[in-house]
Amino acid sequence: MDNCIFCKIANGEIPAATLYEDDDFRVILDLGPASKGHALILPKAHAANIYEISDEMAAKAMILAKKMATKMTDALKCDGFNIVQNNGEPAGQTVFHFHMHLIPRYKGDKVGITWEPGTLTDEVKKEILEKLKN
Ligand code: 5GP
Ligand code: ZN
Repeated sequence: MDNCIFCKIANGEIPAATLYEDDDFRVILDLGPASKGHALILPKAHAANIYEISDEMAAKAMILAKKMATKMTDALKCDGFNIVQNNGEPAGQTVFHFHMHLIPRYKGDKVGITWEPGTLTDEVKKEILEKLKN
């Protein structure tokens, strides 16, 4: 992808603070961190989102997320960890190159990754189960 900023960062054309790199991924610090250590896993091959990424790369990304979460928790002494991955504008995606947010959490921090719980009605439950249950 010619005009994709994360393609350029992942492949080293634009410098970024890199925590980890291998043949498939680069992990960088987010420029607008939600918390100290907020990082992004970027695949080097372009895929816009979860719908486009290959099964192989999705699996590798999750394994890397686990490794990074463990390493970062140890190094940064954080108290918890969010792994966030947005797809599409309504879901908060602003850069349309698949990425996973690695967000260290600290007791009492003000990071807002929460929602107001709704209610699962019988009608909606039935509708969704009809559409999705295999
Ligand atoms: P999204 O909202 O698409 O899930 O996340 C995009 C993230 O990329 C944001 O947290 C934003 O701060 C970060 N970001 C956007 N442009 C750059 C950049 O050029 N360099 C770095 N390191 N992070 C960026
Ligand atoms: Zn890209």
